[in-house]
Amino acid sequence: MIAISEITNLAKQAAQNAGFDLCGVAPATDTRELAYFADWIAAGHAGEMKYLEARQEADPPETGALKRSSLSHTAPWARSVIVCAINYNTDEPYSTQVHDSSRGWISRYAWSGGDYHDLVMRRLKLVEAAIRKAAGNEVEENTEAGNSGLISRCYVDTGPIVERVYAKYAGVGWIGKNTCIINQKKGSWLFLGVILTSLELHPDIPAPDRCGTCTRCITACPTNAFVAPYQLDANKCIAYLTIEKRGAIAEELRAGMGHQVFGCDICQDVCPWNRKAPATAEPDFQARPELVNPALDWLAEMSEEEFRRVFRKTALQRTKRSGLRRNAVIAMGNSANPEFLPALEKLTKDDDPVVAESARWAKNELLENEQ
Ligand code: SF4
Ligand code: SF4
Repeated sequence: MIAISEITNLAKQAAQNAGFDLCGVAPATDTRELAYFADWIAAGHAGEMKYLEARQEADPPETGALKRSSLSHTAPWARSVIVCAINYNTDEPYSTQVHDSSRGWISRYAWSGGDYHDLVMRRLKLVEAAIRKAAGNEVEENTEAGNSGLISRCYVDTGPIVERVYAKYAGVGWIGKNTCIINQKKGSWLFLGVILTSLELHPDIPAPDRCGTCTRCITACPTNAFVAPYQLDANKCIAYLTIEKRGAIAEELRAGMGHQVFGCDICQDVCPWNRKAPATAEPDFQARPELVNPALDWLAEMSEEEFRRVFRKTALQRTKRSGLRRNAVIAMGNSANPEFLPALEKLTKDDDPVVAESARWAKNELLENEQ
C-alpha cells in the first residue's frame, strides 16, 4: 500500500504534468469563511445568481443548509480538497492602460478560444486519474458516504464548494481584499479547479494575507461594489452586471460600467501583486486578437450567426448575444464618442427591447455630453 505522503506528492507532480502552475491540499473541513458565505447570501449580495443559493433538501426548503457553505453536509465522505491553479495571464495590456473610445473590454479570462471550465476540467481529470492509479483503488463516481471505496469528484466553478476558501487553506494564495485568490509569485490571473477526495492527504500551510494596508482595488472599483474589504456586493459588480444579469441594467449603474462589455478586470489590474504577473506559455490560454479591446460597433451590431461563430465554446456564451449587445450599447453611451450616434439611432429600433432601450439611453448620454 502506497503511503499517503507519497500520494500527496504524486498528486502535486501530476498537477504539474497536467499543466497546472500551482497545487496544494486543504483539509475538507468547514471554515470560518464559509460561515461568512451564508451571511453574504442572506444579505442578498449574490444578486440573481440563484445557483449560489442551492440548499440541502429540507422541509420547509429554505431551512436547508446552503450546499456551498458546508462540505460536511454535501460531501461527508471528503477528507481532502486538492486545489489546482493555472495561470491564464497573457502579454496584452491591462484594461486600465487602454483608452480608445471606440473599443470595449472583454475580461482577460475570456480571451482564449475555449471555455476555461472544459480546459481546466480536462487537466483535473488527469490528476484524478493519477491519484486513482496510485491509490490502487477504483473511484466510484456516484457513491456517497458509507462506501468503502475511494471516492473523488472534480469541480470547476460548478461544485458545492467555494473554491477560493480551500485555495487559501491549500496555500495556493490568499483571498485578497478584491476577493480574488492572489499568489505571491503568480498574481491573481488564475483559474481554479478542485478535486474532493476521500483520501486523507497531507495538508499544506494556509497562505498568509499579504494585502497589508493597501486598498487600491477598493478605491479603483468604479461602481463601489465593495461593501467592505473582502466583501463584494455582486449586485453592483460589473462582472455580475455584464455576465449574469438578464434584462435591463439599472440606469444608475450604467455610467460606472465604462467600456466593459464582458466582465471587469479593474480590481485585479490595479493590484500591485499583478504588476509582474508572468504570462502563460500554454497555447490553450493565448488571447484571440479579435477579443482584446474589440470595436464596440462590431459587438453591438453582431448577428446571431456571427455571435455563434465568433464565441462558440467561449465563456461569452453565458451572456448570450442579447447581453453582449446590451453591454456594448451601454459602453457606447459611456464613450463620449459622437461617431456612435448614427449606429445608436438605428439600434433604438432594434427587435430586442433591452438593446433598444439601452440604445435610447446611450444616445441621450452622447447628446448630453455634446452640449
Ligand atoms: S470586478 Fe470591477 S466592478 Fe467588480 S468589484 Fe472588481 S473593480 Fe469593482
Ligand atoms: S489591490 Fe491591494 S488590497 Fe486589493 S487585493 Fe491587491 S494587494 Fe490586496
